[in-house]
Amino acid sequence: MTSRLRREKVLKKLYVESTRRKVEVYSTAPQYARVTVTLSGGREVAATHFTASADPVIGALAEYIGGCGAGRIYAAIEPNGDVTPCVFMPSVVVGNVRYTEFREIWERSPVFRALRNRKALEGSCGRCGFRYICGGCRARALAYTGSITGPDPGCVMNRDVWERIVLHQRVERWATVTPLEAQRVA
Ligand code: SF4
Repeated sequence: MTSRLRREKVLKKLYVESTRRKVEVYSTAPQYARVTVTLSGGREVAATHFTASADPVIGALAEYIGGCGAGRIYAAIEPNGDVTPCVFMPSVVVGNVRYTEFREIWERSPVFRALRNRKALEGSCGRCGFRYICGGCRARALAYTGSITGPDPGCVMNRDVWERIVLHQRVERWATVTPLEAQRVA
């Protein structure tokens, strides 16, 4: 996983450079919304994955469609008809369009409903003041915390979750080290 600090640096640079060069930027990182709001002093916000805009209407809209769009403004349909919140969550199958109308899946899936409820976010994402315009990457939260509404460890504001994961990975690595290898390292 890309370091959360490195991601933050890239997103900041992206905003600064795109503003300077006046180019449109699309980012799939939900945190880009937080970065744009913070760096612009509240003037601009990247509504969902689109470019930052100083338009007050876009700003208001970002509160509803901002950040991770999985199950909120898009979904993925696999070649076999399986519907998932996004392509990065292939194991979260919420229905299949061969047997159920997409509209019914879209409107009734409990998973989609959970994803649309930012008040249901857990940990640091749940407490975060940027949760409506960002909400964190739900695929990454699921992959690393086991919960689709868990905190996104890829965010610079979620240091505690990130450190727990890194520590866990280190422990797992050490668990596979043989006594002979451990002696060599020591
Ligand atoms: S803590 Fe969560 S909601 Fe807040 S900026 Fe980070 S990823 Fe987004």
